Amino acid sequence: MMTTDVAVDASASRSSPGSEVLLRVDGLKVHFPVTEGVLMRRRVGSVKAVDGVSFELRRGETFGLVGESGCGKSTTALAILRMLEPTAGRIVFGGEDVTAYSQKQLRGVRRRMQMVFQDPFGSLNPRMRVGEIVGEPLKVHGLAGDRRRYRARVAELLDLVGLLPAMANRYPHQFSGGQRQRIGIARALALEPDLVICDEAVSALDVSIQAQVLNLLMDLQAQLGLTYLFIAHDLSVVRHISDRIGVMYLGRIVEITTRDELFERPRHPYTEALLASVPTPDPVIEAARPHRLIAGEVPSVRKPPPGCAFHPRCPKVLDHCNSVEPPLEAVGPARVACHLYADASPPPAAPVRPGELAT
Ligand code: SF4
Repeated sequence: MMTTDVAVDASASRSSPGSEVLLRVDGLKVHFPVTEGVLMRRRVGSVKAVDGVSFELRRGETFGLVGESGCGKSTTALAILRMLEPTAGRIVFGGEDVTAYSQKQLRGVRRRMQMVFQDPFGSLNPRMRVGEIVGEPLKVHGLAGDRRRYRARVAELLDLVGLLPAMANRYPHQFSGGQRQRIGIARALALEPDLVICDEAVSALDVSIQAQVLNLLMDLQAQLGLTYLFIAHDLSVVRHISDRIGVMYLGRIVEITTRDELFERPRHPYTEALLASVPTPDPVIEAARPHRLIAGEVPSVRKPPPGCAFHPRCPKVLDHCNSVEPPLEAVGPARVACHLYADASPPPAAPVRPGELAT
């Protein structure tokens, strides 16, 4: 994982999460069927893209979801938004179980959950003016009001993300990458959402621009009381913005804890390996620091290894790691799915999936 430290302004506002749970994801599974045959397609298996993920977000909190590409982070986000149908599990948003909501019922919920996408170049319609892009959600949801009110709201949204209201008449190609991501954020805020899911929202930007956008997101959170699910493969990005962090590997959460605990006392060998691959900003320390790359390739999600899915790459692998799946269990203030932390009792006969335990 290539990553570079992000110099975020220490004075950027940070919010204090409340105690109200805004989103609860409980045992979420998203499995895709694998079929064979030309004339008669028959199901021969399934790809377990998300396999028993559980976590919760408190109002005003930023929960970072981190892991290598293909680990199921974005699929989790799409399932929360019900843009992908969950195979199993529950999604409770604002106290309502929305897992089985119809598309009509979801309309009201979707207003309150918005997404900022990774690609500021590809996610904006090049033929639409920026004002139309930002104001489109208002029109779709019948909230545009009269022309004057609509224009004033678009101007307000552009101002909120640090763009000039006069820029509403320009097209996306007339903006830099960072400015385009600001446009995407303004559009996401148009409907005054409670939850914003940022899916690799700064990954495509230069490091200095990443810091500006992260500062903006933190300021907006403090100003508007937003709750963020912040998805990224880059731990240095997640570190700056998150209150708590969940580490995903092959469709499952293997560690959940606070940001400080994760960086000071990583417990799962995969978390340790991810942290070891993050460069430090000090070139002297960096030159002297041993770099430990994670051994081997990420296994195919179509055929995950048995037992602990990390066992083929784990430097601390134990005898039963290749046959018994470790449950996600409390270890100090964290929850960790690793046999290293099990007590001396024999491993359970039937594997327990990490996400099936409450987090
Ligand atoms: Fe490594 Fe075993 Fe822990 Fe998996 S369960 S991370 S293989 S020690």
